[in-house]
Amino acid sequence: MAGEEYARVYSWGNDPERKIVAERYSDGNLFCLGNTVHCHPPLNGLGSNTCIQDAFNLAWKIANVHRGFAGAELLSTYSTERQPVGAGIVARANQAFRDHQPIWAALGMLETSLDERERALRELRTEMGQRYTGVGIFTADEGGAFVPAGKVAEEAVLYHEASTYPGCRLPHVRLNRSIPGEPVSTIDLAGHREFTPFTGVGGDAWREAAEIVAEKLRIPMLAHSIGFGVHQDWADLYFDRARMRGVQESGAVLVRPDRFVAWGADGVLGGVEECEGRLTGVMKSVLCLH
Ligand SMILES: Cc1cc2nc3c(=O)[nH]c(=O)nc-3n(C[C@H](O)[C@H](O)[C@H](O)COP(=O)(O)OP(=O)(O)OC[C@H]3O[C@@H](n4cnc5c(N)ncnc54)[C@H](O)[C@@H]3O)c2cc1C
Repeated sequence: MAGEEYARVYSWGNDPERKIVAERYSDGNLFCLGNTVHCHPPLNGLGSNTCIQDAFNLAWKIANVHRGFAGAELLSTYSTERQPVGAGIVARANQAFRDHQPIWAALGMLETSLDERERALRELRTEMGQRYTGVGIFTADEGGAFVPAGKVAEEAVLYHEASTYPGCRLPHVRLNRSIPGEPVSTIDLAGHREFTPFTGVGGDAWREAAEIVAEKLRIPMLAHSIGFGVHQDWADLYFDRARMRGVQESGAVLVRPDRFVAWGADGVLGGVEECEGRLTGVMKSVLCLH
């Protein structure tokens, strides 16, 4: 919700007297607690705490009156103790909301149209770009050097361009099973101590090669295949992988345990033997095994 809409829904506006807090929290045997009796904008982080404190205040009193250890009048103290606390918190949160208005306005969050607010948010959307070079990254198979595009070309540290070019951080791609269940990110598939080759339809030789190389070099390696069809580990249901993979479907993108791309092969190389040879060479190079 934008600030203005929030103000309308919660009715706090700029009038300090317009607060949502009940004048009393109980009437006879009726006790109200939580947001039903105090409601305020989510500033200062006191919403749930206040609700829980209401319950904490009331529960022991009811228990003791029920057991006959306390007089019924004790129950009236619930409202007299908690209502002023609620009123104070609502007033404080509303004031904090008003205090924050200039900041929200400066960030464009009080614009009335959704398009305007989204435009303002887009301007703030920056990420730190990072790319590695050196012997831990294998670029010899690349057709050319990494060419930054768009805003990255202007300011490489400030902006981030998702890419599978060796040395870039593994891009997040949302995947699912061919029978959809919980979506998973490529980020979660990689980065668990092992090297992770990602391949796709036609890239079975890379998967087999990965198993052989892992055994030969005694390096943990777990391949994942992504694409359509029951033989693939993951389905590219949202076509994000197709947009992002940077190699052909049968190619491979090798990700280091720190989730940075170490190397990429544009397509499958002949059979398992050729793939194994190439992968071994790449791994030895990246691991500085001479
Ligand atoms: C964006 C946002 C951020 C927040 N951040 C914080 C924070 O950082 N820290 C903090 O402490 N608090 C925070 N809060 C406030 C906190 O979430 C609330 O104060 C708290 O959840 C209120 O608890 P409650 O049990 O009183 O009411 P609710 O959590 O609203 O529970 C009321 C329940 O009653 C149900 N209900 C409603 N009508 C009926 C009906 N007729 N029949 C049956 N069931 C019904 C509702 O579906 C709901 O499940 C935040 C609130 C928001 C909106």
